[in-house]
Amino acid sequence: MLIDTYGRVATDLRVSLTDRCNLRCTYCMPEEGLQWLAKPDLLTDDEIVRMVRIAVTTLGVKDVRFTGGEPLLRPGLVGIVERCAALEPRPKISLTTNGIALRRTAEALREAGLDRVNVSLDTLRPEVFHTLTRRNRHHDVIAGLEAARAAGLDPIKVNTVLMRGINDDEAPDLLQWALDHSYELRFIEQMPLDAQHGWQRSDMVTAEEILTALQSRFDLRPEGRSARGSAPAERWVVDGGPARVGVIGSVTRPFCRACDRTRLTADGQVRNCLFAREESDLRGPLRSGADDAEIAELWKAAMWGKKAGSGLDDPAFLQPERPMSAIGG
Ligand code: SAM
Ligand code: SF4
Repeated sequence: MLIDTYGRVATDLRVSLTDRCNLRCTYCMPEEGLQWLAKPDLLTDDEIVRMVRIAVTTLGVKDVRFTGGEPLLRPGLVGIVERCAALEPRPKISLTTNGIALRRTAEALREAGLDRVNVSLDTLRPEVFHTLTRRNRHHDVIAGLEAARAAGLDPIKVNTVLMRGINDDEAPDLLQWALDHSYELRFIEQMPLDAQHGWQRSDMVTAEEILTALQSRFDLRPEGRSARGSAPAERWVVDGGPARVGVIGSVTRPFCRACDRTRLTADGQVRNCLFAREESDLRGPLRSGADDAEIAELWKAAMWGKKAGSGLDDPAFLQPERPMSAIGG
């Protein structure tokens, strides 16, 4: 098991497949992009599958989520999903994507064994999408969502970050749109994980503000604390149900005490927390002949040292070196 000194057990693995992206969301990446990882530094498809196999067969991981950067930019994604879906015990496999390339990949991913998809979309207005992502691809995301539905992926979750003065007036419209299309919407508080290190707490649209805005148009009833479990989203029943909306208060309502995550970066580093400032290199040992048992021991040691919390409320908090796109959100 991947257990830490506070007794938390990590069963949910996030694997970043690339640090590259075809968008430049302002809360994540600078306009000019970043210094991308060199190809030889990236884990190969075989190495990724081996790491997932070790996690699933010997370390108790049950859920595997592929992310990035933009995971649909990884040429071998379908094959990776297929091979992970063939593992015993079979993990649940999901994907977090900006959705742009889903139109041409959703069907193949579903057939390969993808169980679920989260598509990130912050606005219903193409011009605001352009301001937020610096690219004119709103229509591609909408088409990607439709392709995911046509491929039979279910549920389809939509992740939204609200930015003050840009799209923070859209919360109720986004929820109505999600209800109309049977997507499950989840709002995520903006976290200090932007490459520019420009995050300001006072700029952040809080979970409370989001809920107040939603309640101006919808009746929201808490689903109940127990239903949250280790899931970061607090979920609310909308207008009597069955629809739900999630609000992830990563900053103002942290869920660190119930965290069940472990992360693997595209260059083979284990991170025990999104906000960790240390990483544990597994690529080096992997490439110098370590066997599965040795890799598993190193992974366990990396998780054992997980801190109690994100440290966001500590005045001495320092943002991790890598931004969200390189960690794998
Ligand atoms: N490119 C894919 C996407 O956008 O879904 C996957 C990677 S992206 C880093 C994963 C999620 O992190 C997205 O939903 C994105 O909105 C979110 N994200 C990125 N930077 C963030 C930040 N500073 N605070 C909160 N969420 C952030
Ligand atoms: Fe790309 Fe996702 Fe970051 Fe946006 S949030 S720049 S889509 S990695």
